[in-house]
Amino acid sequence: MTTLQSFIGGRWIGADAAQALKSAIDGQIVAHTHAERPDFAEAVGFARRNGSQALNRLDFQSRAQILKALGKYLMERKESLYAISHHSGATRMDSWIDIEGGAGTLFAYASLGTRELPSGNLIHEGPAMPLGKQGHFAGTHILVPRGGLAVHINAFNFPIWGMLEKFAPTFLAGMPCIVKPATATSYVTEACVRLMHESGLLPEGSLQLVVGSTGDLLDRLDGQDVVTFTGSADTAAKLRVTPNLIRHSVPFTAEADSLNCAILAPDVTPDDEEFELFVKEVAREMTVKAGQKCTAIRRIIVPDNRLDAVAERLAARLTKVVVGDPSKDGVKMGPLASHDQLDDVSGRVEALLASSELLFRGEAQFVGDKVAEGAFFAPTLLKSRDPHAEGGAHDIEAFGPVSTLMGYGDIDEAVALAARGKGSLVSTLVTRDPRIAAKVVPAAAAWHGRVHVLDAEAAKESTGHGSPLPQLKHGGPGRAGGGEELGGLRAVKHYLQRAAVQGSPTMLSAITGEYVRGAKVIETEVHPFRRHFEELQIGESLLTHRRTVTEADLVNFGCLSGDHFYMHFDEIAAKESQFGKRIAHGYFVLSAAAGLFVSPGVGPVLANYGLDTLRFVSPVGIGDTIQARLTCKRKIDQGKQSSLGTPQGVVAWDVEVTNQNGELVASYDILTLVAKRG
Ligand code: NDP
Repeated sequence: MTTLQSFIGGRWIGADAAQALKSAIDGQIVAHTHAERPDFAEAVGFARRNGSQALNRLDFQSRAQILKALGKYLMERKESLYAISHHSGATRMDSWIDIEGGAGTLFAYASLGTRELPSGNLIHEGPAMPLGKQGHFAGTHILVPRGGLAVHINAFNFPIWGMLEKFAPTFLAGMPCIVKPATATSYVTEACVRLMHESGLLPEGSLQLVVGSTGDLLDRLDGQDVVTFTGSADTAAKLRVTPNLIRHSVPFTAEADSLNCAILAPDVTPDDEEFELFVKEVAREMTVKAGQKCTAIRRIIVPDNRLDAVAERLAARLTKVVVGDPSKDGVKMGPLASHDQLDDVSGRVEALLASSELLFRGEAQFVGDKVAEGAFFAPTLLKSRDPHAEGGAHDIEAFGPVSTLMGYGDIDEAVALAARGKGSLVSTLVTRDPRIAAKVVPAAAAWHGRVHVLDAEAAKESTGHGSPLPQLKHGGPGRAGGGEELGGLRAVKHYLQRAAVQGSPTMLSAITGEYVRGAKVIETEVHPFRRHFEELQIGESLLTHRRTVTEADLVNFGCLSGDHFYMHFDEIAAKESQFGKRIAHGYFVLSAAAGLFVSPGVGPVLANYGLDTLRFVSPVGIGDTIQARLTCKRKIDQGKQSSLGTPQGVVAWDVEVTNQNGELVASYDILTLVAKRG
């Protein structure tokens, strides 16, 4: 029988068996934890020294590329993970969420990093803002690697996704991590971490694994480290106040129990498509992963006059859920993850029955050869006797295929009941009426990390109530832990340190690696568009010749574009406007500026792919004379090639268009692809 190993200090440790980990399906032993205690001083030192250094020899862009390669590596070997994952009670669909959802998170962060993060290891959270009247003193914000390590403590329910959704943003941020999976399903996480190390893609020290207890690990952390936690509210409450974490102000992010809800709005009748959508969503959330999802719907809030219809249709759906060995064909729901979980859920249902009645319990006809020893629990639907009573469904989380139905009188009461969960990860509102959505969602958003509004239109593509997405924030207030995960680049920023920086624009440019307006520029005989990516320097600049805008320009541009807006063509209306005269089209000013600064011959600038932060600051009238300054602002090397195979990088240029009085008339960044000499 396999003895699992921890990966500490760059080597696998553990030879002697300790705790037996049993299959949720038949109670057979799948693996043992190891008896040897990891040396956490070594683990922390290794992460700080080797991990931090190796990660920061790379930059955001190259780490994003590694995440992509890791995702591909895992996907190519996913079947080896599916082969053991079902012992945790997971059906193929449950494992898909865990395994392919985990790899998908790596891909999502790889792509976010490539598209939105700079080269280097510093993020400029600009724009810089002037702090003096004459432009000599400015301030801005930067984000830099914290230098410490992240400890990620995970729950048993998603042993791979749970690890990877924390690992991906941490890795991208350049922070090494030590992951500690829940012991019950640590054999799945261990297999995944082995693959990640076997890939040869991980920099030394960037990922360590603890199977079993974390010992004195949390006592060894300091102010540059971070702890994240997913699991029960009780454990979160205990770990959050670890004296050493408080002493050193170590950020502690928790994602804990959550009594999520689904609200059926009063406008939906049993004949509407939305009614069936509601029932389907609830049934799915009760049974996917046997209800062991932090986002599962625990409270079903429906109008009083729909209680019976919802109960009837839900029971009809739940009756069809085939429970059994998840490796068998046709099985829709597996067992709970362990026998401890079975005891826990059974106990919680007993507690819930003190304030509710049993409406439905699935028949105990389990499919499989040896299911007698399995941790099976049938889908169970309860109905609250008094939705406003203390305790019950608003307080007790049965972490299995269990949910409680409750009625409300009007929509305000529904919102108040939803808030009784004291902070949740997610709620779903099913309605056909945008006015109800506009009323309910802002109130629900104060108590829920995510609000999913479902109607027939959204259902065509909805990713569902229960799926956290890498692009969107995951985490909720209060009882749900008060933390935030995912949410695109927000998660990466949790692992970086933000600092405000003040100084002259020239200093800020040097520090941020981005041209800041007012900084000294570099002007040479060579047009900046004639330089290859490697040769271009931040601050390299061109001040163009001038051009006087004529009435012919307005007429020609209006005819060319078809834009005959009164402000450009109606002398009387323009005179009565705030400008008091006809003015040039903003898009003419942009086009004319391009005409001033381009270097027209074939050269290293391959394409112009967009504009950012465009503002028309002052009007340009007939007779005004404009001039442009083009300055190399930011360079990003994504390691990409053009479709013809030319290696290229992204260059953003700061453009200021001014008039004859030196006043800014237009301001923007243009984004170009520039060939590398190599
Ligand atoms: P726990 O809170 O017991 O465990 C979560 C993680 O914390 C596990 O990795 C566990 O490790 C670890 N842990 C526990 N105690 C300590 C400690 N003193 N120091 C360091 N790490 C510790 O939750 P479970 O996973 O056992 O689940 C219990 C309940 O939590 C569920 O029944 C459910 O109610 C809720 N839950 C909520 C989730 C959510 O996201 N909202 C997800 C999963 C569970 P070990 O396994 O080794 O004890």
